[in-house]
Amino acid sequence: MHEFAIAEAIVRATQEVVHQNGGGKVEQIRLRIGELRQVVPDALLFAFDILKQDTPLEEASLEWETVPAQVRCKTCGVVYHPKDVFWECPSCGAFGAEVTAGEELEIVAITLREGSDAD
Ligand SMILES: [Zn+2]
Repeated sequence: MHEFAIAEAIVRATQEVVHQNGGGKVEQIRLRIGELRQVVPDALLFAFDILKQDTPLEEASLEWETVPAQVRCKTCGVVYHPKDVFWECPSCGAFGAEVTAGEELEIVAITLREGSDAD
């Protein structure tokens, strides 16, 4: 399950940001995940729920948008959305393309809980 590795990276990066901001609890994390990452949403949420225990992310929710895959044909330069594992150019029929979008794994926003220093 590579979702665990992804969740771990998210938790670690978020903790770093929280630390740099002087602590506090995280309310929400928003991400962008590329289609080519082939993340299974349920698996990612499951992994995140386990890894966030005993961290400032304990009560945080995870939301993300999926970035559609996009590749550019190496032969004619046409940009298209790859359908299968075989990337066949719809314009010239050539195989082989370079990825221009769809491999993202970015934290877009981290929302900290207000007034979390009550106790
Ligand atoms: Zn082409």
